[in-house]
Amino acid sequence: MLNKIPVPPLKEVLRIDGMSKIFAQSSHKVQALKNVHCTIYEGEMVAIMGTSGSGKSTLLNMISAIDEPTEGKLFLFGEEARNIYKEPYASKFRKEQIGFVFQDFHLLKDLNVEDNIAIPLILNDVSSKEIAVRLEKVLKQLGIYEWRKHRPHELSGGQKQRVAIARAIIHQPPILLADEPTGALDVNTTDEILQLFVELQHRTGQTILLVTHDPYVASFSDRVLFFHDGAITDSYQNKKAASDLDEILARFKSISRGEV
Ligand code: ADP
Ligand code: MG
Repeated sequence: MLNKIPVPPLKEVLRIDGMSKIFAQSSHKVQALKNVHCTIYEGEMVAIMGTSGSGKSTLLNMISAIDEPTEGKLFLFGEEARNIYKEPYASKFRKEQIGFVFQDFHLLKDLNVEDNIAIPLILNDVSSKEIAVRLEKVLKQLGIYEWRKHRPHELSGGQKQRVAIARAIIHQPPILLADEPTGALDVNTTDEILQLFVELQHRTGQTILLVTHDPYVASFSDRVLFFHDGAITDSYQNKKAASDLDEILARFKSISRGEV
């Protein structure tokens, strides 16, 4: 008889329970999220995939407490985050628990690479000695050490995104959110940046949520949540096989056609 190898229980990092978001404008209302339920576990890389306007960025804004849902709850590490949408808790949560990577990098143009990266540590009152140690480590880890004194306009798109990723991880947040992180990059650079996310996931055990409309990008994740018209309509566990891309594409196509 085979001995059963115990599987450690999955630890919940994020749980979204019945979340809706309505944007009320003067003439009409837009329901950007419709009763979204999902659970994200520790160390997972999850891709949120959907067409433009399906509510992906809105969902990330709710998870990072940048904006408040109309309805629903957010659970963090198994506990309801009751105060998360109120200040000063929202800012505290963001600066301690979240790293954010954007499509268009959001670097400060007047600061050099190392000053851009150090911002989260400065916000968290980390000593300058500790900042220097962590900066050197992260600059080397992301292959941008030689560029540390340069300003953003002197860098390529891929280098800028490396700087943005360094800034997102330097305070070692447990949750990393990335909104179309390869949307402004060419094919080869996209590969490099996606490999970096996979490496980070393996090295740090960070939980990564990656928003994309690109099946290729989604194929690097562990699990894909398909988003359509403000709701999760399907999911797919990647098998890390060549067939993943076809599976993701087929599901995405049928969702976009409204078949699911
Ligand atoms: P995605 O990131 O998937 O492209 P978004 O989350 O940005 O989609 O947008 C979802 C829907 O909500 C869209 O119809 C968009 O126009 C609308 N929306 C997003 N943000 C706002 C806002 N601040 N005010 C009004 N409507 C918004
Ligand atoms: Mg978006």
